[in-house]
Amino acid sequence: MSTEYQKLLEHVHELNDLGKAAALLYWDREVYMPHGGTAERIAQMTTMSSLIHRMSTSDEAGELIENAAAELDGAPYDGNEASLIRVLRRSYADARKLPAEYVARSSAVSGEAREAWVRARAENDFAHFRPWLEQIIELCQEQADYYGYEDERYDALLDKYETDMKTAEVRAIFAAAKAELIPLREAVDDSPVRLDDSIVHRPYDVEKQKAFARYIATALGYDFERGHLGTVVHPFAISFSRNDARITTRWYPDFLNPSLFGTLHESGHAMYEQGTHADLSRTPLARGTSLGIHESQSRMMENLVGRSRGFWQAHFPTLQGYFPEALGSNTAEDFYRAINKAQPSFIRVEADELTYNFHIILRFELEQAMLNGDLVAADLPAAWNDKMRELLGITPPSDKEGCLQDVHWSRPGFGYFPTYALGNLYGAQFFETAVEQNPAIVEELAQGKTTALLAWLRENIHQHGKKFTPGELVQRVTGKPLGHEAFIRYAWAKFGDLYELN
Ligand code: ZN
Repeated sequence: MSTEYQKLLEHVHELNDLGKAAALLYWDREVYMPHGGTAERIAQMTTMSSLIHRMSTSDEAGELIENAAAELDGAPYDGNEASLIRVLRRSYADARKLPAEYVARSSAVSGEAREAWVRARAENDFAHFRPWLEQIIELCQEQADYYGYEDERYDALLDKYETDMKTAEVRAIFAAAKAELIPLREAVDDSPVRLDDSIVHRPYDVEKQKAFARYIATALGYDFERGHLGTVVHPFAISFSRNDARITTRWYPDFLNPSLFGTLHESGHAMYEQGTHADLSRTPLARGTSLGIHESQSRMMENLVGRSRGFWQAHFPTLQGYFPEALGSNTAEDFYRAINKAQPSFIRVEADELTYNFHIILRFELEQAMLNGDLVAADLPAAWNDKMRELLGITPPSDKEGCLQDVHWSRPGFGYFPTYALGNLYGAQFFETAVEQNPAIVEELAQGKTTALLAWLRENIHQHGKKFTPGELVQRVTGKPLGHEAFIRYAWAKFGDLYELN
């Protein structure tokens, strides 16, 4: 290995370690930290992000990258070395665009805005959160302007989560998906078939839910030797290395879905990180390609696998064994139908597969309006409710079940939401390709196993980490750019069968 590249790697490892230490402060705050520690923890996290920003944007850091790049000139495009240089050049240029003062202010505001959001949501008090949202909108606007853009302000932010993707592309793909999903949703509404989901709303002992969550995550392929399941208010997955990729979830004593599907979802994220190649460790390549590709893995495990008939035919008897009182008199088919009931609802994270994308389209449109100054914070609750009526035909009874439900707008993170729906589309396209290339995947799923699917994902997606852009990866893996078609085929086949539409 060359000398300059070695020097660069030392710098990269150091930065990676600091970043992961900062991430641990975050994980600890969410899972263990007493509430009293909040103010100092915000200060600690702000100090870390300032330090990391300073180190990663120094002139020396730029020289290290360029010296190594010169030495590696002509290295193969898909090799680890050239890929690392591409990713570093990009993040270096982006980070240099943000003044240190902005980074510190943004981190401090986010820390306090999050506290305000938690309280506002608990007390259903939007007015308490409004001044913080105003600051968040300004931070997003500033951020977009620091990054710069050619066509639309939103492009500057979207690019940070979905490299090289443009707002206009997302708009077009969402419009195409919407045009096909609305008739499907209407056909479901008009169907005489009514699915009963009362069985998931029975009493479910929380300790048993925890035990079953471990069982089902393991069945999916999540490795607890390199993982951990924690309890939080707003679930997430986080990794400190491929050998320590953690998940979190929340538990309700009378509703099974949040913990069950939350666990499957976060396991999908963490399995992606566990599957990155060991050679990428301690570098920024040892992570998912983008948020959208990350979400394709979590949504695939949650829905294409975790809400499939075959998977539950295999695992329902075990679930029944954990909860004989709730499920003793039901069949796997009853459960399959209960977990796939499609019906407009208020909460995004609990939405069914059919209506989920509408929740994202709503947020995507509102974010653009706020970023462009067409919508001010004070008008958000009304704008939210208008869009809910337009897209889903329902009005939230409170802001808690409306614009206060997600943590995302307590951070200057506009551009993040669309990646959820993109994840659904990527996931369906990947899954369709996987099954074409290895039909045994479906037979295996019907026995409750994911070995063949996971091997395909490891080979085609996970091991590459962040080496390729999402556009490059989807083209490499599926032979075509991202489209809405595979998801629509999947949705029509599944809900057409459930609601007897054909
Ligand atoms: Zn996710």
